[in-house]
Amino acid sequence: MKNKEHVVILGAGPAGLATGHELSVSGVKVTVFDRNNFVGGLCNTNVYKGYKFDLGGHRWFSKNEDLNNWFRRLMGDEVVWVERISRIYYDGGYYTYPISILNVIKNAGIFTIMYAGVTYLLSALQYSIFNRPIKNMKDAYVAQFGTKLYDMFFRRYSEKVWGLPCEKLSSDWVSQRSAGLSIWTVIQESLLKTKSDNESLIEEFMYPRDGYVRIPQRMAEDICVNSESNSVLLESTVTGIKYRGPNDFEVTYSDKEGNKTAVNASTVVSTIPLGILPRIMEPACDQKVIDAAKGLTFRALITVNVILKKDRVSIDTWLYVQDEDILFGRLHEPKNWSPAMVPDQSTTSLVLECFCTKDDHIWSMTDEEVGQRCVEDLEQKLKFIDRSEVIDFSCVRTLQAYPVYDLEYGEKIATIHEYLAGFEGLHIVGRGGTHRYNNADHSIEMGLLLGRKILGYDVDYMGVNTEPEYHEIKSSTDPKRDSYKLEEECN
Ligand SMILES: Cc1cc2nc3c(=O)[nH]c(=O)nc-3n(C[C@H](O)[C@H](O)[C@H](O)COP(=O)(O)OP(=O)(O)OC[C@H]3O[C@@H](n4cnc5c(N)ncnc54)[C@H](O)[C@@H]3O)c2cc1C
Repeated sequence: MKNKEHVVILGAGPAGLATGHELSVSGVKVTVFDRNNFVGGLCNTNVYKGYKFDLGGHRWFSKNEDLNNWFRRLMGDEVVWVERISRIYYDGGYYTYPISILNVIKNAGIFTIMYAGVTYLLSALQYSIFNRPIKNMKDAYVAQFGTKLYDMFFRRYSEKVWGLPCEKLSSDWVSQRSAGLSIWTVIQESLLKTKSDNESLIEEFMYPRDGYVRIPQRMAEDICVNSESNSVLLESTVTGIKYRGPNDFEVTYSDKEGNKTAVNASTVVSTIPLGILPRIMEPACDQKVIDAAKGLTFRALITVNVILKKDRVSIDTWLYVQDEDILFGRLHEPKNWSPAMVPDQSTTSLVLECFCTKDDHIWSMTDEEVGQRCVEDLEQKLKFIDRSEVIDFSCVRTLQAYPVYDLEYGEKIATIHEYLAGFEGLHIVGRGGTHRYNNADHSIEMGLLLGRKILGYDVDYMGVNTEPEYHEIKSSTDPKRDSYKLEEECN
């Protein structure tokens, strides 16, 4: 690619900024547009009364050591290590996560674990010996853990996150998230406490001291420093992409006053939802592509950020809350991740995640109603706080938080991909951009690799986050990819 060419990137989340970062290091002119008034997308950290709140707890974790090294170079002395303690709240008891058999016995009793063992053996017989097909998320969990553990630890939480019965969700999510986690790993970890040399359940993770948004902010800073002609334009919503021929585009964006401007681009990188992109292309996409795009749905999120007059609420990095009668599904205490998240160490804060769908009964509640209900649940059900300890709370609403894997999502994506491949020079990347349940590290890895691809390297950026693997196991085997720049090259 020649330097005079211009790459326009739609979205200043981790994926778009990582693509821009990789290209700008090599002297390619980039312009990044985002509709928000901040960079970071879902990795934003909201500041309220001096307290910093991530949009749900975000940890940095990758099995790719090259990517971890890149992350350390990017963040320098801002990285802190966080000890991970995660628990599941289930029917009034607290269970460690990842699941430990000893802990289940302690909480639920020996008969429950024996029953779980029997249902596991039955499932193993059905799925492994008699090859019963795995058709949906429920089948995938039951095949791995049996019906009892599925019901205790996966069904209720999954249905809370996705708002659909597990039978109506694709098994892909399970294979992307927990393939490789066998019941034998759990037993080995909890009973024998032996850890093989190259595998262990993660007990620590890296985190940016002042909140997760520092990662996208650092990338944006570098992009602008790399060349004066690069820019990251906020409050700029992309409304149209005209394809004039191979590597010849006109991208139209609208500023906050509604004024429209068009820019030329030789390459367009889209991280905006795959369900939206085909609808803003010109010439217009075929109706079957538009229909497929309209069928890709998202779950939304309301995060309730609570400031408290007490020095600590919990020991957890995360607490997963299964019970349906509690409005939020997960909580974290930012101070347990980094003390810099609160301005006064005699106080603390909590972030409560309420999963919902635009216009459903949760989304339709006012911020005051959502906040009050969450405070009530914290006080009366979890017994974590006394209402008098609440200094204040605020709510943040996020659409397009979780790409839904319904049973037909794969076909819809294939239809859209096939069609978009006809626009030479248009690339899709990222979580909403590919409708793939990426973590931030996946989106960054995809973005960096896409940057390399645009620079002319032969890399498979779409292969990221497609290997079935269990994300809780860290492998110390050699890195799988080697396409990230060495430190000397970056300088
Ligand atoms: C509650 C929660 C907890 C999470 N926890 C973790 C975690 O612990 N670890 C982890 O690694 N990941 C975590 N994630 C996932 C992480 O947030 C995402 O993987 C990551 O933000 C995806 O980056 P992205 O750039 O692909 O997409 P996004 O962050 O969604 O960025 C896309 C950007 O495109 C912009 N955009 C959309 N449409 C337009 C338009 N028309 N014009 C201009 N701009 C547009 C959006 O404003 C947005 O900024 C979590 C996510 C959530 C919701």
